[in-house]
Amino acid sequence: MAEQESLEFGKADFVLMDAVTMPEFMANLRLRFEKGRIYTFIGEVVVSMNPYKNLNIYGRDTIEQYRGRELYERPPHLFAIADAAYKAMKRRSKDTCIVISGESGAGKTEASKYIMHYIAAITNPGQRAEVERVKNILLKSNCVLEAFGNAKTNRNDNSSRFGKYMDINFDFKGDPIGGHINNYLLEKKKEGFYFFHSPFLKLLFVQLLQGGSDQMLRSLHLQKDASAYKYICPGAQIKVRVLLMKFKAVADAMKVIGFKQEEIETVYKIVAVILHLGNLKFSVDGDTPVIENSKVVSIIADLLSTKFDMVEKALLYRTVATGRDVIDKQHTEQEATYGRDAFAKAIYERLFAWIVTHINDVIEVKNYDTTVHGKNTVIGVLDIYAVAEVHFEQFCINYCNEKLQQLFIQLVLKQEQEEYQREGIPWKHIDYFNNQVIVDLVEQQHKGIISILDDACMNVGKVTDEMFLEALNNKLGKHAHFSSRKLCATDKTLEFDRDFRIKHYAGDVIYSVTGFIDKNKDTLFQDFKRLMYNSSNPVLKMMWPEGKLSITEVTKRPLTAATLFKNSMIALVDNLASKEPYYVRCIKPNDKKSPQLFDEERCRHQVEYLGLLENVRVRRAGFAYRQTYEKFLHRYKMISEFTWPNHDLPSDTDAVKKLIECHGFQHDVAYGKTKIFIRTPRTLFTLEELHAK
Ligand code: ATP
Ligand code: MG
Repeated sequence: MAEQESLEFGKADFVLMDAVTMPEFMANLRLRFEKGRIYTFIGEVVVSMNPYKNLNIYGRDTIEQYRGRELYERPPHLFAIADAAYKAMKRRSKDTCIVISGESGAGKTEASKYIMHYIAAITNPGQRAEVERVKNILLKSNCVLEAFGNAKTNRNDNSSRFGKYMDINFDFKGDPIGGHINNYLLEKKKEGFYFFHSPFLKLLFVQLLQGGSDQMLRSLHLQKDASAYKYICPGAQIKVRVLLMKFKAVADAMKVIGFKQEEIETVYKIVAVILHLGNLKFSVDGDTPVIENSKVVSIIADLLSTKFDMVEKALLYRTVATGRDVIDKQHTEQEATYGRDAFAKAIYERLFAWIVTHINDVIEVKNYDTTVHGKNTVIGVLDIYAVAEVHFEQFCINYCNEKLQQLFIQLVLKQEQEEYQREGIPWKHIDYFNNQVIVDLVEQQHKGIISILDDACMNVGKVTDEMFLEALNNKLGKHAHFSSRKLCATDKTLEFDRDFRIKHYAGDVIYSVTGFIDKNKDTLFQDFKRLMYNSSNPVLKMMWPEGKLSITEVTKRPLTAATLFKNSMIALVDNLASKEPYYVRCIKPNDKKSPQLFDEERCRHQVEYLGLLENVRVRRAGFAYRQTYEKFLHRYKMISEFTWPNHDLPSDTDAVKKLIECHGFQHDVAYGKTKIFIRTPRTLFTLEELHAK
């Protein structure tokens, strides 16, 4: 239990609630939020409320208060679990991970940054240069990744549009010596043109247009007027001064990370190519598709260090193999537009992936000899992103949440169970909803939704989203967690014949099938990959190695987006499962970004969604509190004449037993090998009250 603050701030640990009910949980959450106490424990889980204002609780003095202290000794804070994870890693050589979850705008990315900041602050007392370099890159990488992977949405001004898992490696001294970043599923917005029409990427483009120097813009053939670019959402509010600062910060961060000048230039060129692509106009002249503004084609060719003819051909034709013949098939105007947009999205995605690879290259642990230096341990930080739209990406993210929930159940229960076993205390089974059945619904081979989607995608061009839905209905119609309007026509919540519903552990979600087929396929024509590979710019060439293959060599079907995501989720969860987990559960108090408003309805929904009450129950079904005999005695010895000021019993364990018995608590405790376990919080309250007297 966290150090008792005055009860005026509510209970610092939800485990201490008198009864585990929603009203009581909500009352405590509200009270603490209103008193500016944004963090609350559930055992070793931190529940975090977004304050929507700057609080003075992350400075050097706060860091010092948490450094090296036990989790329960200080009021709840992110630093408390960052320190717990760090201690587990350093003292017990355990790999640990911190999993941060919550809705869009709930504060996940901010939390991950504070945690990184804390770890950076408490390490490397010897000021070793290599450790400083690694720390600096780890911290700076956020700035670059956010510039390319975040966007302003109506839920969050700085919303991550990708999931991030970052491992930090530590040497035997407990100093960071390297790291690795995995990114998950950069969001693809709606089809084609709208991808860029959305707020997504707008920030970056405008940043480049406003932040870049005149000379630089000239070399990229760009003009400052953002409205000249079709891919940029009109009506963007531009705060030039802020953007200039951001642009400079990103440029500096890229230098610190070690991007070479020609690489940085290529990054800007790619962004410029995307802007120019959006302005291409196609039309048909008789039978032949043409590009109306060929000036733009030559700009693109120039920026991509390739030839005009090659760019034009890749935009207007597709090479297809029919039997042994290879022919150039003309696009229709529609196909050409589709191809162009797919190309723009693909080079952006590839750029992002390349930036991540680059960061990984410079922070990868090199030359660490475990025989000399001992084990190299890891703390992982997972900040997955949340999506609002009822589409393919939301399906993927919700599947990810199911996987993480499954992991949470297994690990939290497993951890408790292991502690009881270690301490020799009998364990009684707790009932909880095991969501494995939903995980299977999505990921099972041959039978799951992803397999059915992949099957549908095999028939390129023939299968529509509706036919995919039909296949789902046929195969999953009887599944308890799946339904669609076809299957239950009376269901008024499903509006169209294009929806299906999954009963997730956290509640029902209705998905529109629109775009599922398209987003799942790798839709980029091989011609574009070859175009990039044949560039004389070595950086671009390196980004597109598969462009090397000619059309007749491209036989293997690329893995679909959903399968790639599934594979990466399975690998992620396996990785997390091998580590000791710590959780941060983020909640946003309202949808108005207001620091004052506690929107009861919205908060309750999130508490349900995150399964927090269940979490408290699991925690309480075991023992609410555990502490080593030594520490327990240290805190409470003054409440018994047998132990104050000193005891003459053979051991601390005996002294604690005597103390407990003299107050009549013996029925509410269990004695483990090294720790005392107290079942109900009330006992602890009473102890605290006696202590305070
Ligand atoms: P998404 O899933 O959209 O990426 P997120 O959960 O990562 O959302 P953040 O970007 O971390 O959300 O937070 C959204 C905004 O809330 C921040 O830009 C900041 O203004 C505010 N915020 C979050 N946490 C804090 C905090 N601890 N202190 C002050 N402001 C905060
Ligand atoms: Mg985020």
